[in-house]
Amino acid sequence: MRLFTAAVPPFFKNGYVVSCEHTRAGILIDPGDEVDELLEDVDRGRLDVQAILLTHAHFDHVTGVGRAKAALDVPVWLHPDDLFLYQGVIEQGRLFGLSLEQPPPIDFSYAPDTVIRFGRYVVDVLPTPGHCPGGVCLSIGPEGAATRELFVGDTLFAGSIGRTDLPGGDLDTLLNSIRTVLFQFPDDTPVHSGHGPATTIGAERRGNPFLT
Ligand SMILES: [Zn+2]
Ligand SMILES: [Zn+2]
Repeated sequence: MRLFTAAVPPFFKNGYVVSCEHTRAGILIDPGDEVDELLEDVDRGRLDVQAILLTHAHFDHVTGVGRAKAALDVPVWLHPDDLFLYQGVIEQGRLFGLSLEQPPPIDFSYAPDTVIRFGRYVVDVLPTPGHCPGGVCLSIGPEGAATRELFVGDTLFAGSIGRTDLPGGDLDTLLNSIRTVLFQFPDDTPVHSGHGPATTIGAERRGNPFLT
């Protein structure tokens, strides 16, 4: 797996370019204000990006969707339970004193059996509500192998968890998602969060104060 990440002020939200080292096929995850850096990496790697995958629809995770879609012309995926947030991006921004543009429409909704492929990699989409109703984690690994890396949006952070005080958030639901979905993975599974540094399932299982 080839991985590039970037984050810019003020929200320092991590956007990701994940691609197959064998075929140069790839995906974008959560393009936000750092979208230009993501697109530069796509050019630099001469990557064939095939989809834009959203972990959820808080505005900091989608402000780059318009530029990414215009540059790459690939479908945008979101869980249907976050459509109300996506369609309310302008209002979300207004609450933070920002004037945002409405991003382009969603092309595909994640379904319970959705599997997305790029090159020799597979993406399993795992619903993990709690931070918001349609939050998902993306479990990505080589086709035919068990090893996975998790892209968890704002569900889980190194030493913390996502906030649950925004519309549709619920703390018990979030803790249940982390315990029943993410903690099924082995301790050495890398975790790439929507904000802050990467961690592992084992480090959070042992040391995350919200979960121990
Ligand atoms: Zn969020
Ligand atoms: Zn966020």
